[in-house]
Amino acid sequence: MRDKIEAVEAVCPKCGQTLLVYLPKEEIPKCSKCNVQMVIKELLDEGKSY
Ligand SMILES: [Zn+2]
Repeated sequence: MRDKIEAVEAVCPKCGQTLLVYLPKEEIPKCSKCNVQMVIKELLDEGKSY
């Protein structure tokens, strides 16, 4: 089993605050201001090579 960690951007649907989360190590947090569950905005590909 591979344990790949992905960085995703979570965004609050209410106030738009964003936060980087590392899945599956971390959970999608709640917004500290609004106390609502944040949603995943986009997947960030860390495997890019320049
Ligand atoms: Zn919020």
